[in-house]
Amino acid sequence: MREEKEIKKVDVEEKLGWNSFNVDKEEHIKLDQKKCREQCETKICVLVCPANLYQLKDGEVIFNYEGCLECGACRVSCPKEALSWSYPRGGFGIRYRYG
Ligand code: SF4
Ligand code: SF4
Repeated sequence: MREEKEIKKVDVEEKLGWNSFNVDKEEHIKLDQKKCREQCETKICVLVCPANLYQLKDGEVIFNYEGCLECGACRVSCPKEALSWSYPRGGFGIRYRYG
């Protein structure tokens, strides 16, 4: 008879903890804070970033590029083109670990 293995449930925070980062001192994503403040009603970046790097504080978007998963979700969803977005320089950024 086949032995059933129990599958451990893992939440997103734990999964993100498996990755490692070589953080570049040069920011690879920059925000135009003026556009964010004056033109953006949705602040959709706060919702779409899977790494939770965009935070709302007193109505202002605070961003930290460290921990970026390089998925591009913020770039494609920003309605005001307020992001200057590129991949980190070679050798920097996320290193995914599987399993
Ligand atoms: S969605 Fe774009 S414009 Fe709006 S707060 Fe985020 S980065 Fe700024
Ligand atoms: S590229 Fe992805 S992980 Fe990085 S800041 Fe944008 S939404 Fe977040």
